[in-house]
Amino acid sequence: MKPSYTSNFEYGKRMSKICMIAAICLCLMSLLLVPAGSLAQGALILAGMAFIIGAFIVMYKYCRCPHCGKHIMTGVLVITSCPRCHRNLNTGKKTKKR
Ligand SMILES: [Zn+2]
Repeated sequence: MKPSYTSNFEYGKRMSKICMIAAICLCLMSLLLVPAGSLAQGALILAGMAFIIGAFIVMYKYCRCPHCGKHIMTGVLVITSCPRCHRNLNTGKKTKKR
């Protein structure tokens, strides 16, 4: 049987990446495109914050190790193996300890 949360990890990774990129874009837009201190700037910053919170919710919900269920919050976009069970998050193979 296929582990049910393998696809969730991929989904969470993709979604959190999209949310982070959207948040960064909104923050940059608020700095570059609209007058400082304007209502539009406040709205863009708020929207950016909402995306950051969304990214954390997605990470919390979906970014778990497919093998032991450990939450993977830090470095979710770059990490390749689980810090607890040392299995590759994509292939499930055991990685050698360095
Ligand atoms: Zn694990």
